[in-house]
Amino acid sequence: MLTLSKLIDEDKCYETIRTMRWPEGVCCIDCGSKSITKRGKHDTYSARQRYICGECGRHFDDLTDTLFAGRHQPLQTWMACLYLMGLNVSNQQIAEELSLHKDDVHQMTSELRQAVADKRPEVQLSGTVEFDEVYVTAGHKGQPEKVKKKGARGAGGNSKGFGGTVRSKRRNRRSSG
Ligand SMILES: [Zn+2]
Repeated sequence: MLTLSKLIDEDKCYETIRTMRWPEGVCCIDCGSKSITKRGKHDTYSARQRYICGECGRHFDDLTDTLFAGRHQPLQTWMACLYLMGLNVSNQQIAEELSLHKDDVHQMTSELRQAVADKRPEVQLSGTVEFDEVYVTAGHKGQPEKVKKKGARGAGGNSKGFGGTVRSKRRNRRSSG
């Protein structure tokens, strides 16, 4: 039976992973060195490149330490699944398209969603300042002592960037209204 994952080019899949993982060229997953030597391809997956780090000697490949490593399903299936998820296709439909069991698809989509969610805090770091401020303000009515302590810690603490931003915002609000 013809399935979507069979139409997907294996080399292109690994190329995509490499670009996502190392947008500025392959670097060591342990020490970050760019002194990397290619060490042939994976025994089972001919598009999966192996590397060795010239700095610390670490051996790794395209998928080491990713959620795609050591999986029963080939990378093409995972990529096809990710693609269909992006189109808001249901688990049931993904299972049919890729000739997989519904339970396997459920497991795959959960893990893929989790992986995307895990990366979110780094991207939205600036939003943390806003949340911090909301939290401090919300505690004011019930526990003024707590708020005072938090304010003092913020002013003298080592998280200068955050404390400064929160304080200046609160001051602005007070003077404007
Ligand atoms: Zn290294």
